[in-house]
Amino acid sequence: MQKVGFFKSIHVKLVLIYMLLIIIALQIIGIYFMKQLETNLKTNFQDSIRQRIELVHYSIREEMLKKESDDTAPPLEVRLGTILHEFSTEDINKIYVVNNRNRILAISGANNQSLVGQRANEENIRKAISAETMFDSISLDRDTGKRVWVLASPITETVGPSGEVMGAVYVESNIEKVYEQLSEINRIFAAGIAMSLVITIILGILVARTITRPISDMRKQAQAMSRGNYSRKVRVYGTDEIGQLAIAFNHLTNRLQEAQSTTEAERRKLASVLSNMTDGVIATDRKGKIILINEPALELLHDSRETTLNRPIASVLGLDQEYSFEDLIHMKEPVNLDFSMNDAPYILRANFSVIQKETGFVNGLITVLHDITEQEKIDMERREFVANVSHELRTPLTTMRSYLEALADGAWRDENIAPTFLNVTQTETERMIRLVNDLLQLSKMDSQEYELNFEFVEFNKFFTRIIDRFEMSKSQHVEFIRLLPEKSYYVDIDTDKLTQVIDNIISNALKYSPDGGNIRFGFTVHDNMLRVMISDDGMGIPKENVGRIFDRFYRVDRARARSMGGTGLGLAIAREMIEAHGGKIWAESEEGQGTTIFFTLPYALDEAEDWE
Ligand code: ADP
Repeated sequence: MQKVGFFKSIHVKLVLIYMLLIIIALQIIGIYFMKQLETNLKTNFQDSIRQRIELVHYSIREEMLKKESDDTAPPLEVRLGTILHEFSTEDINKIYVVNNRNRILAISGANNQSLVGQRANEENIRKAISAETMFDSISLDRDTGKRVWVLASPITETVGPSGEVMGAVYVESNIEKVYEQLSEINRIFAAGIAMSLVITIILGILVARTITRPISDMRKQAQAMSRGNYSRKVRVYGTDEIGQLAIAFNHLTNRLQEAQSTTEAERRKLASVLSNMTDGVIATDRKGKIILINEPALELLHDSRETTLNRPIASVLGLDQEYSFEDLIHMKEPVNLDFSMNDAPYILRANFSVIQKETGFVNGLITVLHDITEQEKIDMERREFVANVSHELRTPLTTMRSYLEALADGAWRDENIAPTFLNVTQTETERMIRLVNDLLQLSKMDSQEYELNFEFVEFNKFFTRIIDRFEMSKSQHVEFIRLLPEKSYYVDIDTDKLTQVIDNIISNALKYSPDGGNIRFGFTVHDNMLRVMISDDGMGIPKENVGRIFDRFYRVDRARARSMGGTGLGLAIAREMIEAHGGKIWAESEEGQGTTIFFTLPYALDEAEDWE
């Protein structure tokens, strides 16, 4: 989870909001307070000056109205000067009196006495004389740069505005003091604000912590939960909204933990069911992408999990050319997947079932795969076998029918033809009996309904007896060459069955050997196995067919083999019998050069020596 930046944290935000609110509140109070204070101080200052001026004003008017009859009395300027001198106080910078022609009659301050008699060029004085009212303003003193309050008041002959103007009084008072006082108060106020801010920040931090601590605790728990740790609990600090949220959060954690463990147990169960199944199982999402595939399915498809996950199911099953995912969803019948390569058949059967919600919304598809190669092979062999048997039986039966028809049509009367025809039907009947006998024998072997009667025999003698039998009865000029060892070798065999095998091999060798050919017989011992060899130099078998001559009904040249009375089952029976003895049978052949049939039999050396 993302870390919360310092300035983005609720804690800092709360403190900042708190501070801003306090600053704004203090500012509003401060501005209002300072304004009120300023007006108040200014009014007080001006009122006190005004009251004093009124007194001076009165004295000056009295002096100016005095008739200058008394010669002993000092001149008006001196008298006025005395009044002004008496009046001068610290907060009055300058005070002077002008007559109605704007000439200065008296002025305060020893340095200013030179100005007496000169014209006063103050704007306020002129205005006061001409308008006959009081004028005042605050301005900057050019010399000191301090604020001064300037007041000009007309002096009339009578009290009140109706009298004639005799002159005016001009007072310049030092109002800067008031402003200095104000800025001092301002400073005290600012210090107060700063102090209260510091205190409120500290308090803010503490108050905000009581809110943010449980929240940050819950945040940490949510982070732990996302990592799968449900053991953590949020501390409950109280029963307020945050406390209740913490309780609810803890409750939620418990429920989540329970749900998680249930899901986990279900998941494990499902995983173990899936992995222990012998069938392959593939699950897809609603778009047909593979989200789950078990081990047997990967083995059946010869694929890896990395390459199959997230791939479309139709393409993994090799069905994308024929079916879309939509088709597979609606597929009711199983589909056979043919992965056969050259001669190796490999067929899988896929059954599909849709994962659907109650609303009918398709959530995915489950495919179950099984290997039906063996079953298909058996089915195919069975079909082939039935076809072969029918064919093998039909051929002699058709032949017999045509001969019998010919006989019935009157050929039986012909002494020359009738015996030949009857002979043919007899041969065909015998071949059919042989065929049926062979089939019965094979069927017995298939159903394991036979038992081998083992006998301990000296192989050399046993083999020689069979060869002798053939040598005596043979009709062709074929040389029998015996390459048999001198030493005696004993084997545990069913002599009847093995005689049948050797008979079959020798009769084949005779059948496919030309007149004047040789047939060699021999056996050796290799790795506790007796290896028997019967070799001819007849017509041979084409290389590509050598492996198939032990299959049922397989004949290299059908017509020829049949004409020789073969059933095509002789070597198939031989293979079954040799394998039942625990041996192997195979052929080596070169077309036109000859054929060698080998078979092996288990040979127990120790037992053989005991016998000797
Ligand atoms: P059949 O009864 O036709 O001989 P087998 O099972 O004994 O049936 O033999 C199968 C086929 O193998 C024969 O039809 C023949 O084509 C071939 N075969 C067997 N032995 C030889 C051999 N020695 N030389 C050439 N072909 C042989």
